[in-house]
Amino acid sequence: MLTEQLTMISTNEALEIVRTNQPAPRTETATLAGAHGKVLAADIAAPEPSPRYTNSAMDGFAVRWEDVRGAGEKNPAVVTVVGESRAGVPHRGAVGPGQTVRISTGAMMPDGADSVIPVEDTRVDGDSVSILSVSEAGRHVRVEGEEFEKGTVVLEKGTALNSPQIALLTALGMEEMPVYAAPRISVLVTGTELVPHDRPPEPWQIRDSNGPMLAAAVEQSRGDVVQREWAPDDLESLTRLIEDAARCCDVIMISGGVSVGPHDHVKEAARLAGFSALFWKVRQKPGKPLFVARKDDCILFGLPGNPVSAFVCYAHYVHPVLRNLAGLGFGRRSVTGRLAAHVRNSGRRAQFLQVRLTWGSDPVPGVEVMERQNSHMITTTASADGFLLIDPGGTLEQGELVEVLPFPWMS
Ligand code: AMP
Ligand code: MG
Repeated sequence: MLTEQLTMISTNEALEIVRTNQPAPRTETATLAGAHGKVLAADIAAPEPSPRYTNSAMDGFAVRWEDVRGAGEKNPAVVTVVGESRAGVPHRGAVGPGQTVRISTGAMMPDGADSVIPVEDTRVDGDSVSILSVSEAGRHVRVEGEEFEKGTVVLEKGTALNSPQIALLTALGMEEMPVYAAPRISVLVTGTELVPHDRPPEPWQIRDSNGPMLAAAVEQSRGDVVQREWAPDDLESLTRLIEDAARCCDVIMISGGVSVGPHDHVKEAARLAGFSALFWKVRQKPGKPLFVARKDDCILFGLPGNPVSAFVCYAHYVHPVLRNLAGLGFGRRSVTGRLAAHVRNSGRRAQFLQVRLTWGSDPVPGVEVMERQNSHMITTTASADGFLLIDPGGTLEQGELVEVLPFPWMS
């Protein structure tokens, strides 16, 4: 399809086209050591119960309830110590009538004993122990399988593994687990005016700030930047870069070169590299010239070069794809807040209005629309928390509850 024939679509249509054309998530096996932060690609069923063996919850004495029932300060039960069960060194024998075994927290309960009397509730005299207070049978004993039985699903598919979950997998002896593979991303920037950040720009040049911004954003969205290149506004170099990227990446992002100027080559380069255009131009501000194309299992985003436009398009269209590839689903969570001042979108395109969230006595955050929403002014984005998406002609009143789409680091 010639891109010139593509018509401008709405933000919802654009997001839906992205959703239905995104590459499928890939899975791989993670080792326990590398699993932190990865997302499980399958439910995890416990290969053994927890606790693994019945053990003591206190330091004290393992007893038979029938020997100590009814004991108190005035009528202590007296039992004889026949051994010790330490954490890591169990008592080998059994506890018979009138007997007890000294026991530590976490140590295996000896056969015959069913309750633990904390050391604070006893008086010890050589091998003789007086039990001064009791509560109920089975007290202070952690029974095998009381937390979960073998076979119980303890972690569900889609869980982004945090540190307690690493503890759980470790306790279960899970050495390997299926996880979603990190999405492979190519970050390309194009623009003859660009220089890398470590080279002094001539008066007619600017530093490439979108490359580092998008690479950082990808990291935030759990992706791996596997290719990062620059091309001048030149069809041939751009085509070659896109061809290379398509071989190694799930997602290609290009900043710049998607407008209508004579030096904007991204759409044609994508076509020459074998991509089919999905859409070009969205009824939105900023970010109108957003271009999206697909080749097999690779999706390409041509982001406008203005930094705010590039970032807003990343947050709204690319970030959900990366989340989905990472196993977290395409949807994004919005944050409900109370609008600080009336706003109106009098334009003909939906508007992404950058906002700051403030927390005060109100149970929901306050939403302040920022000044200076121009697409080249990254200072605004640098102090914003997210955006409001307002339809053309839409009005939002002061004090109204509104849905803010938080930037990726807040969601
Ligand atoms: P373009 O989308 O190529 O028409 O670029 C629009 C504006 O964004 C121009 O002012 C460019 O100089 C600027 N721009 C393009 N690429 C970058 C980049 N990588 N970093 C910072 N600004 C850029
Ligand atoms: Mg340009």
